[in-house]
Amino acid sequence: MAAPTRIGDADADFTLKAANARRLRQPGPCAVSPRSFRMPELPEVEVTRRGIAPHIEGRTVTGVVTRREGLRWPFPSDLPALLAGRVVRSTARRGKYLLLGFDHGALLIHLGMSGHLRILPAGVPPLKHDHIDIEFGTQVMRFTDPRRFGAVLWHADVDGDIEQHWLLRSLGVEPLGCADLAERLYRGTRGRGVAIKQALLAGDIVVGVGNIYACESLFESGIHPNTAAKRISRERYLRLAQAIQRILAAAIEQGGSSLRDFIGVDGASGYFQQSYFVYDREAEPCRQCGASVRRIVQGQRSTFYCARCQH
Ligand SMILES: [Zn+2]
Repeated sequence: MAAPTRIGDADADFTLKAANARRLRQPGPCAVSPRSFRMPELPEVEVTRRGIAPHIEGRTVTGVVTRREGLRWPFPSDLPALLAGRVVRSTARRGKYLLLGFDHGALLIHLGMSGHLRILPAGVPPLKHDHIDIEFGTQVMRFTDPRRFGAVLWHADVDGDIEQHWLLRSLGVEPLGCADLAERLYRGTRGRGVAIKQALLAGDIVVGVGNIYACESLFESGIHPNTAAKRISRERYLRLAQAIQRILAAAIEQGGSSLRDFIGVDGASGYFQQSYFVYDREAEPCRQCGASVRRIVQGQRSTFYCARCQH
């Protein structure tokens, strides 16, 4: 399948710094919960999957309502006909893509920068940023996305393996459950002079290590974010891989405790606030040594680190 034409803004906007995103939290008549301006990363997407799964797996789609032409890309024009009467066989995640499996294909959902999914009773009136409803009889799965960088796409089984979809085929390995993550990081960075922080964010070696988790895992493993990826030893990649897996798993576990937020009409996004060692803590004392946390910009993204703890 060829990449469809994108609607609206350029890629650069997709990488708006989380710090800037936070400044956009302006309560107003149409404001959603400020928490939903937190960009969803792998843990939020996985928690979303676990939140919706019990409500939609094995259930038959009774209708689809779209309230605009599309988000990041146009919605499939025949979505209601494609899904009505079909059963959701599975919910899966690849990177930050949710994959709802049907007998004849898969619905790919990306939450973008501000999207979230909720399960609501049928008949709850939509608000301004509620763009798609997938109806399951007395319940509806509603996709809300104030900034509209999310995506809903269809991949038909007859078009081949979903792993070969143009959005998925270049993705790196899933970090959780990957037994040889350290070796993949080591081998994947030989000959790459790029800074390790940017190698992690690139997503072609390992997926799901977004800005927050890159900063935090580099801190935990004591690696300076500017270190050339090719200069990092196997031993240090082992520590980095362990940090990535521990931090992502902890974030999912923490988010899991707020799973009930996915159910209800109160507008809560289900995203969770976490406490960080360095992320978003510029000039605050390092929780490990007390030195001031520093901020630099790498690839238009803010990186937070401790110069005393990370070398
Ligand atoms: Zn420190």
